[in-house]
Amino acid sequence: MTTGKLQHAGKPGEILVFVDLSEDELDDYSKGILSETSRLAKTLSANWSVIGFAGATDHAIAAMAAYGVEKLTLIEGSAEQTDSLDVRGKLIALATRAQGSALLLLPHNDLGGALAPLLAAQLDAALFVEAIACSVAEGRLKLTRQVLGAQVAQAKTWDGSVPLVLTINPKVLSSVVLPNMQPGKLQVERWQPTGAVSAATTRIIERIPADPQTVDVTEAEVMVSAGLGCSEQGFSQVQELTRLINASLGVTRPAYDLGYTGFERMVGQTGKTVAPRFYLALGISGSMHHIGGIKDSKRIVSVNIDPKAPIVANSDEAFVADLREVMPLLIERVKSVTGDAA
Ligand SMILES: Cc1cc2nc3c(=O)[nH]c(=O)nc-3n(C[C@H](O)[C@H](O)[C@H](O)COP(=O)(O)OP(=O)(O)OC[C@H]3O[C@@H](n4cnc5c(N)ncnc54)[C@H](O)[C@@H]3O)c2cc1C
Repeated sequence: MTTGKLQHAGKPGEILVFVDLSEDELDDYSKGILSETSRLAKTLSANWSVIGFAGATDHAIAAMAAYGVEKLTLIEGSAEQTDSLDVRGKLIALATRAQGSALLLLPHNDLGGALAPLLAAQLDAALFVEAIACSVAEGRLKLTRQVLGAQVAQAKTWDGSVPLVLTINPKVLSSVVLPNMQPGKLQVERWQPTGAVSAATTRIIERIPADPQTVDVTEAEVMVSAGLGCSEQGFSQVQELTRLINASLGVTRPAYDLGYTGFERMVGQTGKTVAPRFYLALGISGSMHHIGGIKDSKRIVSVNIDPKAPIVANSDEAFVADLREVMPLLIERVKSVTGDAA
């Protein structure tokens, strides 16, 4: 990574990062985008600050300081306004303009992904979504993303002559605070638009959390995957465990070939690439074709009867055990904790 100032054609201003402050605590997306922006600001030798909607808890605000945040702008708006995606976009765009920022970052989660095109349109800005890497090359910001099912990397550069709305792929977001980061002396400002913001055309009426049983495995947070080491009966136990802990189910290629699941749950080089917080590999040998699809998982735990299976060396924690003995005990234990009688 090269460090240096961008050769901006226009006024660079500070980098702004949008953080969703609707929950009591900062979520992993927020922590990740704060960490990423602090890193990018360091690379660009630029100042940065955070923008979010009023209503944030003191706890969430205080947690930002660890990431070196020094300024937080809270946008004031009525509940009716901030429940509408298009009005939210307009308010964030107005606040971004008011701050003279040319670079606005968001995590590419449901909210960030939906807001980004609205913001780019409002700001007459360039749009780059799901970046996996940002660096400086020849005075320009070089942005990379994966396309065609993560098989091809595509790079673009930005010279700062037009504003840029940039979303970062959640798979590369880490909530780790940069080493030597000094906690910021956080200054909170409130901002509201001077004129009227046109009425909402859409309104959020309910937030429905994603169902892990049906969510695309590429978005899964917790996964349980079965390989050939699970017999047919063993596979029903894996399904039961997955349901009990509200996780997403995955399989290896041979398990898919046996018809255990549809292709959309097959994980690996020719299947889906996943990056959950927790990946439990049951009866999976850990071939390179499978590991290629799970290596970005934050924590891999495996159970395999063979201590020499490659999955063992590729796990954060590996249990050498027979699934025929482990699964009934695990299910019983989970039921005793969840109180599930099913
Ligand atoms: C071009 C190509 C692309 C491929 N793409 C993919 C892909 O995308 N995804 C994928 O998964 N594979 C893919 N494969 C297949 C891959 O090479 C492996 O064959 C496959 O991943 C192995 O699946 P497995 O771990 O379920 O089975 P196995 O390799 O047979 O492993 C089963 C494991 O279960 C353990 N076991 C057995 N009984 C028990 C028990 N009672 N308790 C505990 N453990 C037990 C065994 O020790 C063993 O380690 C691809 C292959 C090729 C050639």
